[in-house]
Amino acid sequence: MFRAAVFLLLLASLFFPLRGLSQGPLVGHPGEVLFIPAAPGELRARFLGHAFSPVLLGSRAYFPIAIPLKTSPGIFRVEIEGSAPRRVSLEVRPKRYPTEHLKLPPKMVTFPPEILARIRREVKLIRGVLSRTGEGLCRWEKGFILPVKGRVSSPFGLRRVLNGEPRSPHGGVDLAVPSGTPVRAAQEGRVVLVGEFYLPGKALVLDHGCGVYTYYAHLSRILVRKGQRVRRGEVIALSGASGRATGPHLHFGLYLSGVKVDPLFFIRKTRMIYGAQAGGTSQAS
Ligand SMILES: [Zn+2]
Repeated sequence: MFRAAVFLLLLASLFFPLRGLSQGPLVGHPGEVLFIPAAPGELRARFLGHAFSPVLLGSRAYFPIAIPLKTSPGIFRVEIEGSAPRRVSLEVRPKRYPTEHLKLPPKMVTFPPEILARIRREVKLIRGVLSRTGEGLCRWEKGFILPVKGRVSSPFGLRRVLNGEPRSPHGGVDLAVPSGTPVRAAQEGRVVLVGEFYLPGKALVLDHGCGVYTYYAHLSRILVRKGQRVRRGEVIALSGASGRATGPHLHFGLYLSGVKVDPLFFIRKTRMIYGAQAGGTSQAS
């Protein structure tokens, strides 16, 4: 009887690690991700029209909830579906992302119709892969890692104005590294897209389950095939300056059910959560 109670308590602690600690609504900012502890039997959370699956990170289950960049400040509800549906309040506070004015040769900004048609086709293809929603519960043994170590030459969310024309915000982070730098898988996963495209150049996408995808662009060489499974930290490509790039760098993007989020924020958060479980060794790889 006592052992059964201890077991139940242990089981509950897997799913309610933060219970009792949070007061009032959760707080987040556009481009960030919140990890809401998931209870047994909860298999989907909905927020602003997007569906999120739970992930087992280390030994506990969470719903990673992505806040789209264009979300206006306010209090919102996350609807969690399961045998006992519940709602969680989430307050979105404003966040200012920097603006950058760039002067580029006109041929890097405006394209003839046939190139424009190719770009649109490719954007649709890549976005289609990055927008898939996950199914069921997936498991990440440890937190995510940075695919390369390098200076951030262009942060996530940067509002770019190219030759006086505003463009959509930067959907990933640019890490300045010399061409030929080994690029590592941010997490274990499966290669779901490999190709050479007009703007991103040689690029690939990894599927990490639960609707979470990482995107690597401007590569000089791709070392994996579509369908291949990769380990966390495995070298999957070499960095470069292919496609439209003003210099060698890795463009690294992270998507949750099609919502682009700040990859550096996401990596830090997963490592913090895993590190807290592992007893404060958040720097352990
Ligand atoms: Zn970029």
